[in-house]
Amino acid sequence: MTTQRRRLRVTGTVQGVGFRPFVYRHAVALGLSGHVANDSEGVLVEAEGPPQQLDELSRRLTEEPPPLARVATLETTQLPATGGSGFRIVESRSERAPAVAVSVDVATCDDCLAELTDPSDRRYGYPFTNCTNCGPRYTIIRSIPYDRPATTMAGFPMCDACAAEYADPGDRRFHAQPNACPACGPQLRLLEGDGRVVAEQGEALDGAVKALLAGKIVAVKGLGGYHLATDASDAGAVAELRRRKHRDDKPFAVMVPDLDAARALCRLSPDAAAALSSLRRPIVLAHRHPDADGVAPGVAPGLPELGLMLPYTPLHHLLLQGMGRPLVMTSGNLSDEPIAHTDDDAVTRLGPLVDATLAHDRPIHIRADDSVVRARPNGRTQMVRRSRGFAPEPLPLPRPARRQVLAVGAELKNTVSVAKDANVVASHHIGDLEHLAAHRSFLQATEHLCHLTGVDPEVVAHDLHPEYLSTKYALELDLPTVGVQHHHAHVASCLVEHGRTEPVLGIAFDGLGLGTDGTLWGGELLVADLRGFRRVGHLRQLPLPGGTRAIREPWRMALAWAHTALGPEAAARYGESADERWRSVLALLERPETPVTSSAGRLFDAVAALLGLRPRTTYEGQAAIELEAAAAGLELDAVAPYPASIEREGDLLVIDPSPLIAQVVAERDWGTPVAAISAGFHAGLGRTAVEAAAELAGHHGLDTVALSGGVFQNTRLTDVVVGACREAGLSVLVHEHVPPNDGGISIGQAAVAALSD
Ligand code: ZN
Ligand code: ZN
Ligand code: FE
Repeated sequence: MTTQRRRLRVTGTVQGVGFRPFVYRHAVALGLSGHVANDSEGVLVEAEGPPQQLDELSRRLTEEPPPLARVATLETTQLPATGGSGFRIVESRSERAPAVAVSVDVATCDDCLAELTDPSDRRYGYPFTNCTNCGPRYTIIRSIPYDRPATTMAGFPMCDACAAEYADPGDRRFHAQPNACPACGPQLRLLEGDGRVVAEQGEALDGAVKALLAGKIVAVKGLGGYHLATDASDAGAVAELRRRKHRDDKPFAVMVPDLDAARALCRLSPDAAAALSSLRRPIVLAHRHPDADGVAPGVAPGLPELGLMLPYTPLHHLLLQGMGRPLVMTSGNLSDEPIAHTDDDAVTRLGPLVDATLAHDRPIHIRADDSVVRARPNGRTQMVRRSRGFAPEPLPLPRPARRQVLAVGAELKNTVSVAKDANVVASHHIGDLEHLAAHRSFLQATEHLCHLTGVDPEVVAHDLHPEYLSTKYALELDLPTVGVQHHHAHVASCLVEHGRTEPVLGIAFDGLGLGTDGTLWGGELLVADLRGFRRVGHLRQLPLPGGTRAIREPWRMALAWAHTALGPEAAARYGESADERWRSVLALLERPETPVTSSAGRLFDAVAALLGLRPRTTYEGQAAIELEAAAAGLELDAVAPYPASIEREGDLLVIDPSPLIAQVVAERDWGTPVAAISAGFHAGLGRTAVEAAAELAGHHGLDTVALSGGVFQNTRLTDVVVGACREAGLSVLVHEHVPPNDGGISIGQAAVAALSD
C-alpha cells in the first residue's frame, strides 16, 4: 500500500469558524495521520495516508467546508512520508490575532435542527440548542478573549454531557462556547403583561402558541432583542399591533417556516432565496404574488413587496411549528425607538403593548436588529440594513489603514465603524440618534466595538453636520478629528465594497447631508476616491420650506418644485385647497433666508405629493417608496423618459428637473395613470443623471460610475441608471453588501480617515 504525505495550505475565511475541528474530524474519519494549525495565512494541514483518502480530504475541505468558512485557495505540496500515527490540532505560536475575535450570530444549523426534532435526542424540543457551526455569538459576548465566562452564558455551568462534547475535538460542539442542553442551559418562561411568570419551559412555549393562535400579541425574546409577534393572517390582530405600537403604515416583517412557505407568498430569484435561507437570515424584501393569501393586507399596506424571514433560532422553529402559519415578527419597540433587549426594559416598555411575553434567562449583551436585504428586479440583492448576522464581520479595505480610526456615522440609521490594518468593521444598526435610548446604545456600541476589535483610535471621523449627536460626541473626544462630507462618505462606502482605489464619478442621490458650502446637498455628482472628492455637478437647488418639517410633509416640497418649475401663479393654482399653510409656505419660498437644497430624496417626495400619493409621511422614505411602488407593474422602458435639462454653471453641471415636474403636472391633469407618470419620472431622472455623469466622466478621464445614497434603495431608479451607464460605455459600481443609505456612512467615513494622507 502506498502512503503519501501532503501539506495543504488553505486560505480564505478559515479562522474562528470551526475549521480546525472540521479538518480533524474528517482526517480521523479517513484514517489519516498528521496535524492541523492556524497561521498568519490561514490554515495549514499536514496529512499522511493513502492517496485516495488524501484526495477525499481535499475534496471535502473545498466542497463541504463548515457553514461559516469560505475557502479561497487550497494549495497542495508533496512531502516525504514520516510514518506518524494519530491526528492532532496544534496550537500555533505564530498565530496572529484575527481582525475580530468574534463571529456573527448564526442561524440554527441543519444538524442542530435534526436534534431539535428527534424525540430520542437529549436536546429534543430544547430552544437553546447550538453548536460550533451555529448559535449566538456577537450578541452574547461581553469581552474578549471569546470564552464562555466572557459571554452571557457565564451563569450556566455545563453539565457533564455538555462538558464532554465541549472538550472532544471530534465533536460538533468542540469549544462551542454557548453549548447548552435542557439539563444545564437557559430555560423559557411565559410572563403576563404585568411581568408575572405564568408558565415555564415547554408549557411556556405552548402558552405562547395558544395566545398567538387566539390573535394575541406576544413579545418574544430572540437573538438580538425582543420581537413583537402576532398571527400574520389575522387582520384584526395586525391592526391591533399597529395601534399599540403607534405604527401607522410602515410594513411589518413576516416569519415563515421554510422556503416553500416563502415561495408561496413571494417571487424569489435564486439570489433572493439564497439570502433568505442563508445562515445570516436577513429579512428579504421581495415582490409578493398578487393572489397570495395567508398574510393580512395590513402587514404591508399598499406595497407590492413583503419582508420575509425564516426562523433563525430553535425557539423560532418551535414557535412556527406550533403555529403552522406566518407570524408578524417586528422589532420590540414603540415607534422608532431602539429594540428592547434586556428583560427589565421589555417588561417596562413592551409590557403595556403585549398580552404576554415569551422570555428566557440567557441575557442579550448587545442588541442587534434583524438585517434587511432587498431583492432587485434583475435578481440580485441589495443591503438595506446591515445588522444581525453581518456585524461584526470585517470588510476588507482596498489598502491597509494608515491609522486606527473610529467613525461615528450619521444621525439617522446610525452605525459606527472602526478601521485598523486591512479591515473596516461596522457595528450593528443603532438607529436614529434623536432618541435618548439610541444615544445610550450608540455609546455602548462604540465602546464595545473598539474593545472587540482591539482598536485604540488615533483619529475619529465624523459627518460635517454639527448638530448630529454623533458629530458632537466625536468633537468631545480628546482625539484628532477628520470631518468627512456626507456624500463623499456614501460614495466611499461603495468604493470600499468594491475594493476600488482609483477615482470614480460618484452619483450620490440622497435625503439631506451638509455640503462643504453650508447648504444641504443630496443630489450630487462627485469625482471621488477614498482620499478626497470634488463636487462637479448637482441637482438644481431650491428652497426647503420649513426645514425638517419638509421631510415629514412632502406637500411642502411639491409646492417648492411647482413654484420653481412653473412659477408662483401655477404653484398657487396647484394648491387646490390653497389654505393658510399653502400661502405661508409660498411666502417662505420667496424669502432669501430659507435654506436651499439639491436633494434627490426631496424631489421624489415632491413628485409623490404632486400625484396625490403621499402629502404627509409616517415613516422615513415613505413617499419615495410609494412612488416607486406605483410603477411596480411596468417595464423600465414602458414609458418614454420625461425630459430634464442640464445646464453649465461655471465648473459645475446642474441637472434641472423643472421640465420633469412640468410634465408630471401636465400628465396628472390629463388623467394619465399614476403608474405611467411614476415610470416616466424614474426613467427621465435616471437617464438625465447618467447623461450628466457621462459628460463629466469624459471630461475628467473616468470610466466608472459609483451609485450611493439612500435614494438608490429605489431599485427601479438603480436599474434605469445602470442600464443607461452601460449604454454610455461606463462601468457601474452598485451597493450589494453595504447599505446605500446612512447605515453605510460610518464605513465610508472610516475608510476615508484611514487612507487619507
Ligand atoms: Zn448547530
Ligand atoms: Zn448540558
Ligand atoms: Fe445620506
